[in-house]
Amino acid sequence: FDGHAIAPETAAFLGGPHRLLIDGAWVDGSGEHVTRDPATGLELARFATGGAAEVDAAVAAARRAFHGAWGRMTVSDRTAILFRLARIMEANARLLTELDIVDNGMPGFIAGLTTANCVEMVDYYAGAVMRIEGTTTAPPRHIAAETEALTYTLREPVGVAGLIVPWNVPLSTAILKLAPALAAGCTVVMKPSEETPLSVLALGQMILDAGFPAGVVNIVNGFGADCGAALAAHPGVDKISFTGSTVTGKKIVQAALGNLKKVSLELGGKSPVVVMPDADLALAVPGVALATFFLQGQNCMAGTRIFAHEAIHDALVEGVAAFSAGMKLGHGLDPATMQGPMISDAHSAKVMSYIEAGKAAGATLVCGGDKLDRPGNFIPPTIFADCRPDMSIVRDEIFGPVMAVQKFATTDLDAIAELANDTPFGLSGSVWTRDLSTAHRMVKRIRAGHVSINCHGAVGTNIPFGGFGQSGWGREFGREGLDAYLETKAVTARL
Ligand code: NAD
Repeated sequence: FDGHAIAPETAAFLGGPHRLLIDGAWVDGSGEHVTRDPATGLELARFATGGAAEVDAAVAAARRAFHGAWGRMTVSDRTAILFRLARIMEANARLLTELDIVDNGMPGFIAGLTTANCVEMVDYYAGAVMRIEGTTTAPPRHIAAETEALTYTLREPVGVAGLIVPWNVPLSTAILKLAPALAAGCTVVMKPSEETPLSVLALGQMILDAGFPAGVVNIVNGFGADCGAALAAHPGVDKISFTGSTVTGKKIVQAALGNLKKVSLELGGKSPVVVMPDADLALAVPGVALATFFLQGQNCMAGTRIFAHEAIHDALVEGVAAFSAGMKLGHGLDPATMQGPMISDAHSAKVMSYIEAGKAAGATLVCGGDKLDRPGNFIPPTIFADCRPDMSIVRDEIFGPVMAVQKFATTDLDAIAELANDTPFGLSGSVWTRDLSTAHRMVKRIRAGHVSINCHGAVGTNIPFGGFGQSGWGREFGREGLDAYLETKAVTARL
């Protein structure tokens, strides 16, 4: 891989052909697809794809398991099996990490971090199984007037969950759904992205090795338009949890209408980064650069709209450009790599079309702007200054390494917030200032699900994450991530 070695277990996993996991067994699909290393274009593995028929079989298996072995399992055993999965993942961390690096192109330092977070996430939700608790409350008046009575609530699994995930953080976006869904007692049908199936397929084998009963976890690879759409529309699915683009999220909602299945959506973003005149530039310069360029901008939380006060604007832009120039582009297996390639030719073409639109609209190109002349789709950090709110580079989620800087002169927080909130999205944001009072007052004004102070995108296993506005419905991570897979049943008993 560009001169870099992979572990023997990773090499053994590549090639395939990999099959679908349905009802506890690896089975053939109805089609086949190939996944490639986006840094080199080289074929990694062949894998089976499924459509409506395979989704149907997987949903039926998940339904049987829900009412069968999984539904009957004690919470102690459910806890133990999830902890067992975490240990197997931990023992295979290098495999999972390297599969995400070669399949997605992400730098190794990010893949290592996300694998460790995934293990922590499974442990966290394993530990939460026994803390799924109802409440007691006063019985209704008309019964309490007549007799002694008892009212309490039960938390029950929502049922069969369809989990549809994107390519940008393949293992992580899968585990964020899988771990709480299983902890809640749901059974699942997972559809990985057709661009990056490998780490989730490896996880499938670990799930079998951990001893989950057949049908609890089913993995059906395939394309969005047939496999994903069939899962979203399936009448036997009780809940869809989707992470992906806002455009696809709207299709999921339409598809889910048939049986009014519950829907959680983690969608796109165009997050604001507000740098106040008193910001500590030693922190803000690398922080702002990474807010946009972490994961080469293929990051839902990316802070791509930078609002810089005029007092620090020039120093910030120069500093961020200099920091970005030091971000080594390369293969994710190279430990020095800070930024990898775009996922595909099509996505790279989309990112480049936005860069051209930024140039044509009159934004000042500070650095970057051209694709590198080498195999793989490497686009260097690209910074535009003097942006206007109506430019497409400011309005649209580009999902690439493109930063759009706007200068402001006011210190009125309401006026600054109006600029920051001028977007249909609301996933994340950050405020950079030495003044904690300003920081917290600004945080209150930013309309987003996750706002950081003097850092950006500070997500964590226990910290709820999700979007305001068109960035989604519901929350993942933490307690709220588990609630997304639970129903509440109220019970009243005459005594
Ligand atoms: P995408 O919407 O193109 O695809 C996501 C998944 O949906 C894939 O598995 C795809 O096959 C499937 N899909 C496509 N069309 C479908 C349909 N009609 N019905 C059912 N499924 C369908 O998104 P992507 O390009 O894979 O990922 C990038 C997007 O994901 C960005 O917008 C990014 O912001 C978003 N994202 C959001 C979060 C978050 O937590 N909010 C996290 C990661 C990525």
